[in-house]
Amino acid sequence: MSAATELKLTQNSYYAASANEQPQYPTLNADIEADICVVGGGFAGLSAAIELRDRGYSVVVLEAKHIGWGASGRNGGQIIAGLACEQSVIEKALGLDAAKKVWGMTLEALDLVRERVKRFNIQCDSKDGFLGVAVNPAKGAALREWFDGMAKNYNYDTDAKWISPNDIQQWIDSPRYHSGYYDCRSGHLHPLNYCLGLAKGAASLGVKIFQNSAVQAMQQGEVVKLNTETGSVKARFVVLAGNMYLPEVSPKLAPSLAKRIMPVGTYIIATEPIDANVAAKLIPTQSAVCDTNFVLDYFRFAADHHSKDHHSNKQRMIYGGRVSYSAMTPPNLSASMQARMAETFPQLANIKVEYTWGGFVDITMNRAPDFGRLAPNVYYLQGFSGHGVALTGLAGKLVAEAIAGQAERLDLMARIPHHDFPGGKLLRTPALILGMAWYQLRDALG
Ligand SMILES: Cc1cc2nc3c(=O)[nH]c(=O)nc-3n(C[C@H](O)[C@H](O)[C@H](O)COP(=O)(O)OP(=O)(O)OC[C@H]3O[C@@H](n4cnc5c(N)ncnc54)[C@H](O)[C@@H]3O)c2cc1C
Repeated sequence: MSAATELKLTQNSYYAASANEQPQYPTLNADIEADICVVGGGFAGLSAAIELRDRGYSVVVLEAKHIGWGASGRNGGQIIAGLACEQSVIEKALGLDAAKKVWGMTLEALDLVRERVKRFNIQCDSKDGFLGVAVNPAKGAALREWFDGMAKNYNYDTDAKWISPNDIQQWIDSPRYHSGYYDCRSGHLHPLNYCLGLAKGAASLGVKIFQNSAVQAMQQGEVVKLNTETGSVKARFVVLAGNMYLPEVSPKLAPSLAKRIMPVGTYIIATEPIDANVAAKLIPTQSAVCDTNFVLDYFRFAADHHSKDHHSNKQRMIYGGRVSYSAMTPPNLSASMQARMAETFPQLANIKVEYTWGGFVDITMNRAPDFGRLAPNVYYLQGFSGHGVALTGLAGKLVAEAIAGQAERLDLMARIPHHDFPGGKLLRTPALILGMAWYQLRDALG
């Protein structure tokens, strides 16, 4: 995606149009020092900054554009338990006992979001409830098998309940779904307002935030020096939390990281305001919803903050899906997304789309997150694989624990093996497209 197209899609997000007021953070214009320098003003970087400041360190955050500019300000807002990969991947890599610890951490990540919303009084329309749904009997059977395994090994049935084919219509008024599960501990929120609230919270603790301050070079050593165009930061520790955008903004900063993640574009529409009674009929629990297809649809109703009539109590459907593996934005995006939405909810066939935007997710080969160290004092957090709203918060906590000398939990995640995508930059994408075509075919065949 070219910078211009990227910007256009971002600016047309419903989140940007309904963002809470925020302070204007300055550009770095001096040579300064701090205990820790965090690169990236998204959920992961801000979470690390908050946790490190809580532990008494002086912290600087450098953001290339503005807070929440990346995936954190434009995602589906779904706060979901678990990792992007299945637990079986973690069981295979680390064994069942360690996998149980990882699962427990993902639940801790859900609680952390709520704690922070409360702690910093963030107005981000946070709501509980998530529905995982299967689109046909074969996928329903696979989901049931997964659910039973999760109940057996992880007591998942304490937070979630199975929804049979007879009952599914009561949970979601759509002809598309066969069966599913309801998870009361997962949920959703306005991601940009959450991100802006985290930044405000971090600043209130004394974290120094700089925007329009892209890190262009890093000199490693006992003290690491990070240079921007107009200033520099000397720090004892660095946390790289630049997501897919890190290699784009500064290709020479950490090239070994870029090899382990693949940018995949995913897109979202927001509709015109919809009557709250209609919304309540379509998804009575007002949960976030995600299907189990490999190329999945994810959607939810969100509060409408942008209507002319502020007392209308209307809602907007935020509907995400499609993917692209090239820098090109897919053609007819709004129309094709609207058609997908109408397939799920024929009741919304005549509802207008008011916003269309997209962003990149940073997927790893096995979809497990990729956290670790490049050097004893340079940490990185990446590879959330489209599943980072909650997990980024935990990642920030893990990195703070590691820096504070309690490395066991980050090291557990760092032991999950990761491999480079084959073929270098030019071949990575074709290889992935081939793989994805297979999964899409599998989705189609059921
Ligand atoms: C369209 C979309 C839908 C999604 N939906 C969901 C969902 O519903 N649920 C879910 O759990 N996850 C979802 N995700 C994934 C989730 O948004 C991400 O995993 C998460 O936001 C990643 O946060 P981050 O802080 O790592 O990265 P980002 O939010 O991308 O932040 C990285 C920041 O680093 C900055 N940066 C990069 N390089 C430099 C540099 N050299 N110097 C200074 N700054 C730099 C960038 O400008 C950027 O602001 C979705 C993602 C997208 C794109």
